[in-house]
Amino acid sequence: MSARILIVEDEPAIRELVAVNLRHAGYLARESGDADSAVTMIDAERPDLILLDWMLPGISGVDFIRRLRERASTRDIPVIMLTARAQEGDKLQGFESGADDYVTKPFSPRELLARVRAMLRRATPEASEDPVEIAGLRIEPATHRAFAGDVQLSLSPTEFRLLHHFLRNPDRVLSRSKLLDKVWGDAVYIEERTVDVHIRRLRLALRPTGHDRLIETVRGGGYRLAPS
Ligand code: CA
Repeated sequence: MSARILIVEDEPAIRELVAVNLRHAGYLARESGDADSAVTMIDAERPDLILLDWMLPGISGVDFIRRLRERASTRDIPVIMLTARAQEGDKLQGFESGADDYVTKPFSPRELLARVRAMLRRATPEASEDPVEIAGLRIEPATHRAFAGDVQLSLSPTEFRLLHHFLRNPDRVLSRSKLLDKVWGDAVYIEERTVDVHIRRLRLALRPTGHDRLIETVRGGGYRLAPS
């Protein structure tokens, strides 16, 4: 089945260009020019991926993503941000708020499609994979759920994959570049400090149950899940 992609972008020329290219590549592209209609469309039919313009009338990309991440029904929809070069400094803030990737305007349709493909591939749960549990942290790949003790965690797609990778590699020091390779995969444009932002978000999610202590920072090395 074709993946459903929602484009939230107030500039009609860009929106249409993106939509035409996505449709040409076989995706079901929906278009929205503002946040309110986007929310209505998301509620009516859950997209598999959202392409989100950073600068929307009336609401910032950050606020929009926060709204998505606050709701159980929308928190695990992957989001790729579309930013202008002048807003490069905002992209870490975008990751902080829960975006999974970003593309800088002007972008080539080819680059955008490569990022869309990579994101959809990563977001697809691997149903054949068994649940993994370490020190009270549990990931169920088939249902895309994560738990700390009895508490179900609300993680963005990237934090979910990050935790999953830690649980599959307990006690091993994982460098930032290794994490980028294993968790982000094809997104070669992402900088190493982005890893730190997502580690911070993951620790925040684990803090209420005290499991944040399991993720250690290894000086000069990277990060490690230390079960004991
Ligand atoms: Ca805009």
